[in-house]
Amino acid sequence: MNDIKLALLGSQGAGKSAVLVRFLTRRFIGEYASNANSLYNKRLSIDGRQLNLEVFDPCSQGSEVRCIMEEPVDWADGFVVVYNISDRTSFINAKSILRQIREARMDNCKGETDVPVCLVGNKQDLCHARQVREDEGRCLAQESRCHFQEVSAAESHQDISNLFTQLIRQVMEH
Ligand code: GDP
Repeated sequence: MNDIKLALLGSQGAGKSAVLVRFLTRRFIGEYASNANSLYNKRLSIDGRQLNLEVFDPCSQGSEVRCIMEEPVDWADGFVVVYNISDRTSFINAKSILRQIREARMDNCKGETDVPVCLVGNKQDLCHARQVREDEGRCLAQESRCHFQEVSAAESHQDISNLFTQLIRQVMEH
């Protein structure tokens, strides 16, 4: 049995817990008590391999990225960095988190990270209030050499399931 550890990072209110709960339960839970660090565990089978998935959903503290980075950065095999497409501050925060992951997990002098990451623009259903264009997210992901996906934890399961599956595959191949 492979153990895979993922961490969700992003601004408070970006929808990290909603994205994770959607992946784990296929449901959207509108209000979720996210004032404590949470560790979730799930057994999965991907490509015929049995996995024990642990996901750390840290209690985020606004824009104090450093505080939320301290625990998961050494622990995780992969990261899901979440921002809210209708909140530009959360995108700026995601940019800073990606940079901090890169700095903390620098693999070699070419500046490549040694850890799989997926950048997620959540709340796609709020596109009438969009503050971050999709191509800005895509561009940031390209710069950071990570995957990118816009999703709506409120409305759709499939994109979220796909992004976790893809990230887990990357971790397994790593
Ligand atoms: P966290 O602090 O990053 O874990 O954010 P939460 O998961 O607690 O979500 C913050 C708020 O955003 C809650 O009121 C959720 O119901 C809401 N929310 C989360 N995802 C979505 C989404 O995809 N669409 C909409 N409209 N609201 C969402």
